[in-house]
Amino acid sequence: MRARAWIFDLDGTLTVASHDFAAMKRSLGLPVDQPILEGLAPWSPADRAEAFARIEAWEWDHAATARPAPGAHALLDALRDDGAVLGIVTRNLAPIAWHTLEVIGLQRWFDRTHVLGRTCAAPKPAGDGLRRLLDRWGHAPADAVMVGDGLHDVGAGRAAGVTTVLVRDAVPPTWHGAEVGWDHHHRDLHGVLDAWVAAGRPA
Ligand SMILES: [Mg+2]
Repeated sequence: MRARAWIFDLDGTLTVASHDFAAMKRSLGLPVDQPILEGLAPWSPADRAEAFARIEAWEWDHAATARPAPGAHALLDALRDDGAVLGIVTRNLAPIAWHTLEVIGLQRWFDRTHVLGRTCAAPKPAGDGLRRLLDRWGHAPADAVMVGDGLHDVGAGRAAGVTTVLVRDAVPPTWHGAEVGWDHHHRDLHGVLDAWVAAGRPA
């Protein structure tokens, strides 16, 4: 928990979760039990482009009304004061992610080039985005943490070999049997900060 490199998911992790992914999948005619990006993969390029136009409009709408997750300011402050490097890897688009950060007042903790969206690298659960940030920063996976509210985040963290922190109030029962487990679970970012403080300063 005293890692020098901290990579966050955005929606539902640094923001209060607001996207109704199931409703969007239903409106697109996608199966509800499959993530949107994967569900669209077999579609024709024209149909996919039309779907993505709708998805992006929906994502911009959510960005405009985003709220910061409880504890986000305090955690990012503490990490920055400690000299940690901070990044974001999201399945949203990078420009929408950046606008979300502006809306919730968290952009000052991040370098814009360290906010990677779904077109910047293979999307989570692939570990590509995380590896790209670590390469850029010159940090080893052993010195990094991935913080997120979803199994994609845990999976990406595992794929990149970093410590994984699941942050969500309630963990769905089925997740406990998931192939990818997480290293730490906290109900919110206050819990992450408390654990980080309890871990003490590195020698
Ligand atoms: Mg999320």
